[in-house]
Amino acid sequence: MRIVLISTPIGFLGSGKGGGVELTLNSLVTGLLTLGHSVEVIAPRNSKLNKDNKKAKLHFVEGEDQISWQHQNFNSPVTIPDNSLLAGMLEKGLDIAKQADVLLNMSYDWLPIWMTLNTEAPIAHIISMGSESSVISNLISKVYDKYPYNFAFHSKTQADDYPFIKKPIIIGNGFKLDNYTFQDSVKGPLAWVGRVAPEKGLEDAAYVANELSEKLNVWGVIEDETYASKIEQSFPQGTIDWMGFLSTDELQKELGKCRVLLNTPKWNEAYGNVVVEALACGVPVIAYKRGGPGEIIQHGETGYLVDPDDKKNMLYYVEIIEKIERKKCREWVEKNASTDIFAKKVVNWLNKAIDESKQ
Ligand code: UDP
Repeated sequence: MRIVLISTPIGFLGSGKGGGVELTLNSLVTGLLTLGHSVEVIAPRNSKLNKDNKKAKLHFVEGEDQISWQHQNFNSPVTIPDNSLLAGMLEKGLDIAKQADVLLNMSYDWLPIWMTLNTEAPIAHIISMGSESSVISNLISKVYDKYPYNFAFHSKTQADDYPFIKKPIIIGNGFKLDNYTFQDSVKGPLAWVGRVAPEKGLEDAAYVANELSEKLNVWGVIEDETYASKIEQSFPQGTIDWMGFLSTDELQKELGKCRVLLNTPKWNEAYGNVVVEALACGVPVIAYKRGGPGEIIQHGETGYLVDPDDKKNMLYYVEIIEKIERKKCREWVEKNASTDIFAKKVVNWLNKAIDESKQ
């Protein structure tokens, strides 16, 4: 199969601004190449693919980023800036896709989804967020009526945010196991990983660390400076140890030294890449049962799930975290979320979308 992929219109690949989509795209390319497919990626200028993905052709587009939908109001209209990066990527993608089997869109935005109705090339969409915008949800509903096989979701709970999707196609996500080393560090510090932005609930993890008089190691892009400094000021100085944004290789080395990852989403987390990355290093996860993490974590086996926003209960489970066998965390990822498993699910789905477009 010849597949043309459109990246996120928020930040170049490797910047961290695109959140989990950056890693998902790289994992998918690795998996598709391993299965023998041909892949071309349309991405913002300065983007880099992982070293395993050298066989994928990368096309650069310059332009203005989109505003992320999770930081707009639910009823905001669509905004397309002058010299739009998204429009540029779509134009290039449509052009290259003339010689391909399918255009695979990984940007959560209006324009590529609308285009599905207005071009002959099949455009399939990996929806990377829960319902964050009425205009996008309404459009998905309209396109889904005509093309029910053109949308895939990372988790069931995420898809439930779109109640008109009657039979959601769930593809999970994939991780290149060789990139993560198992570490048996049962006595390590507390970890939190993610974009530092209100929907990620860092304050609840800081609460747990403070109650235990411990430090919380925080990795990730500080997307919202005001939010970050507000949390810092709400707790005794030094509660949060800001570790910055690291490449996957550096991140996994540090993350593997931790005894637990705290995951505190305040939104319907579509999947939660950081949860699986921690498990791949042998680090158990305690998470709010909200979105993807609720489907990934096996309560009592690979970590613990607590009711959303119940930070006291999270604290309770941190105190018994050594009951979790770290090897089981790694095993879960091997059996359920490798790049191969992920790419096979995506290929099955794309075949349905391609068949549908021929009818
Ligand atoms: N991440 C990273 N380095 C860091 C912190 C985070 O590469 O120092 C990446 C992490 O690997 C993950 C992404 O940031 O792929 C966050 O994705 P997630 O699905 O957890 O949340 P999203 O940002 O998509 O809402």
